[in-house]
Amino acid sequence: MHRIVIVGGGAGGLELATRLGNRSGKAGRAHVTLVDRCAVHVWKPLLHEVAAGSLDTHAHEIAYAAHSHWNGFTFVHGEMTALDRERRCVKIGPVFDSEDSETEVLPPRGLEYDTLVLALGSRTHFFGVPGAQEHAIALDTLDQAERLRKRLLQVCVRKRAHGMTETDEAVDIAIIGAGATGVELAAELRRMEHALRQFRLLSESPRAAMRITLLERGDRVLPALTQRVSDTTQDTLEKMNISVRVSTSVTSVRPDSVEIADGASIPADITIWAAGIRAPGVLASLDGIAVNHINQVRVTSSLQSETDANIFALGDCASCAWTADVLVPPRAQAAHQQAMFLCKALSARIQGRAVGAFKYKDHGSLVSLGSPTAVGSVAGITSTGKFFVEGFIAKLMYAALYRKHLVAVSGLRRALFGLAAHGLGRLLTPRVKLH
Ligand SMILES: Cc1cc2nc3c(=O)[nH]c(=O)nc-3n(C[C@H](O)[C@H](O)[C@H](O)COP(=O)(O)OP(=O)(O)OC[C@H]3O[C@@H](n4cnc5c(N)ncnc54)[C@H](O)[C@@H]3O)c2cc1C
Repeated sequence: MHRIVIVGGGAGGLELATRLGNRSGKAGRAHVTLVDRCAVHVWKPLLHEVAAGSLDTHAHEIAYAAHSHWNGFTFVHGEMTALDRERRCVKIGPVFDSEDSETEVLPPRGLEYDTLVLALGSRTHFFGVPGAQEHAIALDTLDQAERLRKRLLQVCVRKRAHGMTETDEAVDIAIIGAGATGVELAAELRRMEHALRQFRLLSESPRAAMRITLLERGDRVLPALTQRVSDTTQDTLEKMNISVRVSTSVTSVRPDSVEIADGASIPADITIWAAGIRAPGVLASLDGIAVNHINQVRVTSSLQSETDANIFALGDCASCAWTADVLVPPRAQAAHQQAMFLCKALSARIQGRAVGAFKYKDHGSLVSLGSPTAVGSVAGITSTGKFFVEGFIAKLMYAALYRKHLVAVSGLRRALFGLAAHGLGRLLTPRVKLH
């Protein structure tokens, strides 16, 4: 049987494994295997909500072991560390006990393939800024988002307990990068602040607020979106009392401050780095596979590696042309479209037919600005242009993106039951996770 190995069970990889498992795995046409270094999947665009405590991860985790059993594929837990292209073998590193890094739970292994799909996503790019990697928190993984949430709670509780004046209790937060991640996190933190006040973990006084500063090197927030979306977003953030500083380059990050190019220093009890991405370093050492300057695998229009036609790549870790001089952007909607394409393409490949070419369709972008509102521009149904959308309608459309992902990976029935259970659970628990 044809062996398809997919490495990375994120927005794109999990959807592809699920679709292929149900289509070819269950019918006995292919053996589909998904490899991930984690045991559970959480949709990455939710991480800013995890960090701000507004989303309980347990309600949104998908355990790969059970999911693979239900959807006709095999799950292998472990991190891809190397590749032997001649033997068509993926090398997987050992898995250690999460509490005791000395105890090996699973040994290093090799996994043979006929077709390999790389779907490893991306990591934060610190651009070599001194102190950034050491002192700023990134938002790439569930662990990092949880770490940020706990750190925020600790700082708030500590300042509340030890502050001599209300001003001492203020918590300074610097967010570097005003792309979608930075903007959404800033807005979500205001929601967290509100809940912390409600439960008296933060003082009622406005002087004891979270002082949030959003720093952006470009000349506007959300530089990849339209001017109108940027202007509306900046306006909304400022009304939420978030200090927005555009055209501001960060030169170094210290444990308690951020230094900027004009020599000024911005106090920061917590610094979050949300500027720029690059693909995991392991891709640059995969037995000669061609990658670009940020480690993304260079692929052809059929998403096949330029170096090896048995290897495909999708999502954030793929460098795929959209137009002559623009790459497909690193977004969940691109990973989803590529997963849909590859499901058909790989089914054709197993049957010896041509795989065809991938075409990215930009359906627009939506950015969440806290609980009641969002903003963005979305493609119309009939026209090729985009229309501007904001407020509650935009928020409903934004929320629909995650529902769509859930339906794609879990099916309509399971997704509906899961959402209903989650909705009921929210009636019994605080809006922010406090432990
Ligand atoms: C806070 C935040 C908000 C976002 N909001 C939006 C949004 O609103 N809309 C949007 O379109 N996009 C958004 N994005 C971007 C979106 O999350 C990514 O573009 C998308 O997740 C990419 O999907 P992917 O499948 O390529 O990678 P990912 O979803 O990142 O998945 C990669 C998977 O690979 C696994 N992995 C990595 N390395 C290895 C290895 N060596 N071995 C085994 N497994 C490995 C990881 O554990 C992970 O499961 C957001 C991102 C963040 C961080």
